[in-house]
Amino acid sequence: MGAFESRMSFADLGLSEDLLKAVEEAGYTEPTAIQAQAIPPILMMKDIIGIAQTGTGKTASFVLPMIDVMAAGRRRALMPRSLILEPTRELAAQVAENFEKYGKNHDLKMALLIGGVQMGDQVKALNEGVDVLIATPGRLMDLFERGKILLNGCELLVIDEADRMLDMGFIPDIEFICDKLPENRQTMLFSATMPPPIEKLAKKFMSNPKRIETTRAATTNKDITAFKIPVETRKKRETLRWLLQHDHVETAIIFANRKTTVRELNKSLQRHGFASSEIHGDMDQASRIKELDRFKKGEVNILVASDVAARGLDIKGVSHVFNFDTPWHPDDYVHRIGRTGRAGAKGRAFTFVSKEDAEAIENVEKLTQNQIPVFGKKDVRVDLVDTSKTETADEKPKREAKPKREDKPARGRKAKDADEPRAERPKRNARRDDRDDAPVPAGEWNGPKPGFLEVSAT
Ligand code: ADP
Ligand code: MG
Repeated sequence: MGAFESRMSFADLGLSEDLLKAVEEAGYTEPTAIQAQAIPPILMMKDIIGIAQTGTGKTASFVLPMIDVMAAGRRRALMPRSLILEPTRELAAQVAENFEKYGKNHDLKMALLIGGVQMGDQVKALNEGVDVLIATPGRLMDLFERGKILLNGCELLVIDEADRMLDMGFIPDIEFICDKLPENRQTMLFSATMPPPIEKLAKKFMSNPKRIETTRAATTNKDITAFKIPVETRKKRETLRWLLQHDHVETAIIFANRKTTVRELNKSLQRHGFASSEIHGDMDQASRIKELDRFKKGEVNILVASDVAARGLDIKGVSHVFNFDTPWHPDDYVHRIGRTGRAGAKGRAFTFVSKEDAEAIENVEKLTQNQIPVFGKKDVRVDLVDTSKTETADEKPKREAKPKREDKPARGRKAKDADEPRAERPKRNARRDDRDDAPVPAGEWNGPKPGFLEVSAT
């Protein structure tokens, strides 16, 4: 809620009539918190640092006032008057769309400088003069070094999505670019988080910036019980299967950081008899929606997803969220676990933490200002775990590398499955057989405890 609640109207912020009209036509009725706080000082030409969660409307918080600021003044060839830096082509293109939408009543020229687009058109636009240049650092450096662009006429700079810039290794490029801009300029920096290198960057290249930090969405929703699970990378799958079977999972979304992980994990779950499907960035929107529908209808009760694919899709109210990997961007953590804990009902969120996830989980805990408890014996929802039902020591451990074997349910073991209370398990999981009840290979199985409790990676 917080982010979209500002109790202000756009008309209170000092924007021009032309702009207010465009905003109204865009369908926005109220500024978000970051917009309400950032727009007035930007119109007063102040340097600002804006920190607000992903999805809170940071783009319009600088695009809108920029349009009014740039309205006065004139274009010159090769010398863009303002510059917006974005970490990716997609984000740059989105900001350009925003510019077109809000700037339609203004006579401003915009150019987009991104990789993967013919350079000729971009150079032509620059030659004709642009008011607003939106660029990724790489392509901009490229053109600069070829002498196709001059940055000394650039009076306004926006460094957007600064924390992603950092993740992508763009800080040196940004420093290089900042050095080429006139010192007497307005600088704005937007980010979801402010890790130390970004603070340093801001200190170096901004003058007395006003810092605006909007309140975070409730990250500690009382209806969500969250745990982290230290686990070795190679044991993530079996640990996941164990939890899927023992934690009263009705519906689950499993997030992974990479598309390949999403695909492989879904295949592996299906091989183990789970009713699962997948959505990731390599699928077109239509197939994503189709898979989502199958999930909503209950044809499958497990959805393996990447952040990009899940973003913007309406998936809420699942009983469980699993972070198969700790998300690289701490904001994604908040988004991910927010998919559970529906009105009145409790949700459970598990985050797997292997050695590779160590830094990411630190960032998550910094952002949420909350230590996520480690999943322990007392947290196992098992009334269900019964030592008599754990795999016997003489049984061979299952190997992911032998899918052939795993495709077929082991014979003569159905009975074991049958004595688990039916009511505890959703029908949809009926295809699942009991082979996965052992979370760790027999040699390492050590009594009734689930194996992961003994694996410590952090
Ligand atoms: P951020 O950069 O903070 O992650 P964006 O600027 O991309 O967020 O905006 C996220 C979404 O919110 C976009 O779909 C945008 O159209 C929408 N949005 C922005 N401002 C408003 C507003 N005042 N009212 C309603 N929706 C808005
Ligand atoms: Mg943004």
